[in-house]
Amino acid sequence: MKYVILIGDGMADYPLPELGEKTPLQVADKPHMDHVAKEGSNGLLKTIPDGMEPGSDVANLAIMGYNPRKYYTGRGPLEAASIGVKLKEDDVAFRCNFITVYGGRLIDFNADHISTKESSKLIKTLNEHFKIGRFYTGVSYRNLYIYPGREALKVKTKPPHDIVGEPIKDHLPSNGKIAERIKQIIKESQRILKDHPTNIERSKMGKRPANMIWLWGQGQKPTMETLEEKYGLKGATITGVDLIKGLGVYLGLDNINVPGATGYLDTDYKAKGKYAIKALQDHDIIFIHVEAPDEAGHAGNIKEKIKAIENIDSKILGPLLDELPSYNSFRLTLLADHPTPIKVGTHTQDPVPYAICGENIKKDNISSYDEESAKRGSLGLSVAWKLLDKLIGS
Ligand SMILES: [Zn+2]
Repeated sequence: MKYVILIGDGMADYPLPELGEKTPLQVADKPHMDHVAKEGSNGLLKTIPDGMEPGSDVANLAIMGYNPRKYYTGRGPLEAASIGVKLKEDDVAFRCNFITVYGGRLIDFNADHISTKESSKLIKTLNEHFKIGRFYTGVSYRNLYIYPGREALKVKTKPPHDIVGEPIKDHLPSNGKIAERIKQIIKESQRILKDHPTNIERSKMGKRPANMIWLWGQGQKPTMETLEEKYGLKGATITGVDLIKGLGVYLGLDNINVPGATGYLDTDYKAKGKYAIKALQDHDIIFIHVEAPDEAGHAGNIKEKIKAIENIDSKILGPLLDELPSYNSFRLTLLADHPTPIKVGTHTQDPVPYAICGENIKKDNISSYDEESAKRGSLGLSVAWKLLDKLIGS
């Protein structure tokens, strides 16, 4: 049996007055998504456990079959996996953002989307200066700091995107001796980066300088069974997003690199569809993750969100549905990882609609894949980390 999990990041939404109180999923032209709903079973999926942040990492970990409460250890370890840094037993991985600070306030959590090349120069300088731990270059503003010692786990840190515009002194790491040390590193980074040639150059080009680092989201290497150990299935991920790639590494999945998969609105949908079909030949289960609807949700752009949904439908799901019947048996599930409602501009906790079709999956008289229709589906409401049990086990 072949299994396909197609995830439209942040695809679910709330009704919008601009759309006559309908959601983007309800108005989008998406015959293939509706076909999955019509031919299969529908329901609502709770992807974010109560009390946890509605991040894509948490949601996708759940979708891949692991209870985030038990297995989620932070963004740092995922970042480490995605750039190929192996964590030792006692290592604690922090996400290291380059940020812009003016007048003691955090102005920009990504330092004007600093390039990877520029980041790597700054990382080099940081490593020359700081003797505790080690910095690693990631992608753009998203970099990594490894602290050798598990005491760093109890340091309280704040995500920089949550404190934009606020005085940094109110949000620096706290809770104990190591927190003081981490705080010192952050503060001192300002002195080191302020007049760095890379920043002087950036200022000349009218770009915001990366004049400080921010360490947060730390965690240890998660210990989990791979998907193959759990289900005996060989799996792959197709995604443009580092955090999801990182998850895949811990779960023993092959990351299929798709040229042109950017993780943004301009992602090459057709290429994703093509590589997914190719990956099916030598994998039993594939996770296809498309970031574009989430980006549109964050930008509050209704038109782009509808377009992203329609692109997933026609360029990824359509070709897959053509291809899958050539295998003996298959099951496909279509879902969002969390809503990114246009009105809210960021992720919410609400359950998402999902549909499963394929071998021995019963129809339940739902004719559209959307938030409202899913409420009437036969699958009711369930938690996401049990989805694979349902998909594979039944
Ligand atoms: Zn997401």
